[in-house]
This record gives sequence, structure tokens and C-alpha cells, in this order.
Amino acid sequence: MPGGMPNLQVNGERLWASLMELAQIGATPKGGVCRLAASDLDGQARRLFIRWCEEAGCTVRVDKIGNIFARRPGRDPHLAPVMTGSHLDTQPTGGKFDGAYGVMAGLELVRTLNDLGYETTAPIEIVAWTNEEGSRFSPAMVGSGVFAGVFDLAEGLARPDNLTGVTLGAELERIGFAGPEPVGGCPVAAYFEAHIEQGPILEAAGKPIGVVTGAQGQRWYEITVTGQEAHAGPTPMPRRRDALVGAARMIDAVNRIGHAYAPYACATVGFVRVSPNSRNTIPGQVFFTVDFRHPYDPVLSHLRQACQEAASAIGLEAEVKEFWYFPPTPFHPDLVAAVRNAAGAQGYAHQDIISGAGHDAVYMARVAPSAMVFVPCIGGISHNEIEDAKPEDLTAGCNVLLNAALDRANAAGPPSTFKPDGSR
Ligand SMILES: [Zn+2]
Repeated sequence: MPGGMPNLQVNGERLWASLMELAQIGATPKGGVCRLAASDLDGQARRLFIRWCEEAGCTVRVDKIGNIFARRPGRDPHLAPVMTGSHLDTQPTGGKFDGAYGVMAGLELVRTLNDLGYETTAPIEIVAWTNEEGSRFSPAMVGSGVFAGVFDLAEGLARPDNLTGVTLGAELERIGFAGPEPVGGCPVAAYFEAHIEQGPILEAAGKPIGVVTGAQGQRWYEITVTGQEAHAGPTPMPRRRDALVGAARMIDAVNRIGHAYAPYACATVGFVRVSPNSRNTIPGQVFFTVDFRHPYDPVLSHLRQACQEAASAIGLEAEVKEFWYFPPTPFHPDLVAAVRNAAGAQGYAHQDIISGAGHDAVYMARVAPSAMVFVPCIGGISHNEIEDAKPEDLTAGCNVLLNAALDRANAAGPPSTFKPDGSR
């Protein structure tokens, strides 16, 4: 199909019906879903997904970390697949759409191609990643992380259940999803993931489609401010080296940096420990944490400078330790353009957006050209049993996913070379 997009449409009612049927597995009284990774219910959801994929003519493989791949062949079996999907596990008080939407949208895409008898050039693969939520087994995004080489397989399988200590590997074995296939190592031509936004931006803008251009970087800092303990009475104000006053100024600076780079920067101090924490002693030491997120790395370093300035103003020492770093992830420009063009061709109002949360696509972006499609969720609420989305928005997102995926599955050659760190 040379010269532009075919502009096909999915069956939105069928997509909705599949989502609602899937949501019965682990349904909670408040209308949410509790389907923890590698639990019996996760196994049940996986088997339903596999049955639906096989009914749609796909060949299903399961790898050693339990990731499920369902392939619809293309005209050229030698080409790497265009992959799309998300995860089937949920938070303990999760909703019907987080993760499930991306997997069911992939299934609906394949069902639509079947209805139309449409043959793509490259194969299409629907994927359900293991343990995206990181709720039962931390960290998050283990299945896609092992696939992308972020964690090794043994490390992934050894993750213990946060309550009982039983390992992810043992639980996958028990539910029948410790598959035989090696994890990763095979080329993926493109990875698309459809997901609810899990934030309020699209709903507030009244737009059904978010063209996700990348994911925010995260830096977690641990800051220790050291002054001098002294008696609260006899110590005159000019002689004090009050660590808590310094920390308070730093916390205010953290907040101001967050506001200065709105709407995408998020800056949070969520933990503070004051020493000695006594009402008539000037605090000698304060420890606090900072969770700082922004799509552009240079902004993240402003924090260090602000802390040093606050400390030196009143003769304190501040040790700023970077505890964890997750670089900003730009998605592949060709795939982002395919998503944007598909939204435009369907006549959907859309805007570029940055993902504030982690997703499997963020790890996939390290090994394959990747992009995401966001749709609004009601009130921007997710990780909650009341999580909800409008059927027409879910249909819109799936239409965009379908046409963006077709753009890549019918592309003449591989996408242009692209390195996730932004260099070329
Ligand atoms: Zn998710």
C-alpha cells in the first residue's frame, strides 16, 4: 500500500467486550481488578488471552520469564515482527484498563486484520509482559526488563514475593508459564504500546489521543544536611548552624524547580528525618529524599546547585547523593510520527505528551524502535479500583495503534538508525 496510510478501523464493541470479559478475572467488589503477577488469576487471564490469540490464528510462544508472544505471520517470514502489547498483571487495588488495554488493543488489531483479510509485509506480534506492576515482585517491568537486557534472567526469576518470599520463577513454574523459549535476543522491527494516560492532561484538553514522545527521566537523591546541635535557649540566632532551616530552604527549592519546569517536571520530598528531633535542641543533622522527574536531563542537575547554595548561606554542609538514576527515554521519531499521522488521518484531536510513569515500552526502547499511544482515563485516576475510560476513547487509541503498526509493518526497509541516548 504505497503512499500513505490505509486508515482502517477496528471493532470498538469487540474490544470493549474483551476488556470487560478479561476484567472478570480477579474482579473486586468495587469494580476494579486484583490480578497479581504470576498468581492463579494471572494464569487464568494468560490462558484466556492465549485462547483468543489461537482462535485468531496466531502462533503462541512463552519465554523463560513468562512473556507471551502471539504471532500473526506476514508476507515475508524473514522480517522482524512489529510488536504491540502491554501487561495483564494489576495492582492489588487496580483497574480494568492499566495494561489490559494495551494487550486487548493488540488482539483487536489482529482480529481486525483477519476480518479484512489484510496481509502485512512483516509479521505482527502481540505481547503480554510478565510482572509489569512490581507490586507482588519488585522491581517493576521485570519481563520486558529481562527481554531488553536490563536484568539478567536469573536475577528476574529470583525476585521474591514481597510477603511470602516465594520467587517469581517458582510461581511461573507453578502456574505453567515458565516457558521454554530464550528471553530476548531476537530483533523487533518496532514496538508500539497503547495505554491509558494515568494522568489528567488529555482529559483536561478534551483530546482522545496522546502522542507519547518519550518518558521522563527520574533521579532519586538522598540529601544529608549537617550543621551543629546546640541548646535552643542560650545560642544566639546569628551563631546557629541549624540543619533543619537549611533543609527547609532546600525542600522549598525542590518545589520551586518542579514549578519552574511545569507541566512535565515533578519534584517531591517525601521522607525527612531530623536529628536529634528534640524540641529544645537546634537540629544538627537532617536527612531527606528527593524524587525528581523531567524529560530533559540538564534540568535535573539544577537541584544539586540549589542545595549547595542553601547550605553555604548558613554554614552547613550538604551531601547530595544520587541514589537511583533512570535516564529520560525519547521514543523513536519514525514511530512517534507514525502515531501522530495515524491520529491525524483518523481525524482525532491529539497532542504530544510525555509519560510520567514507567512502562514496558521504556525498556523496549533500549533494544527496538518504540513508541506509545495514550488515551484519557476518567479523572486521570489509575492504580485504583475506580479507574475508568470511555469506550470511544479506547476505540480511538486502538484505531491509531492499528494504522501506526501497519505503517511500520508495511515499511519498505528498517527504520532509520536511532540510539536511545539521542545520538545518531
Ligand atoms: Zn501499565
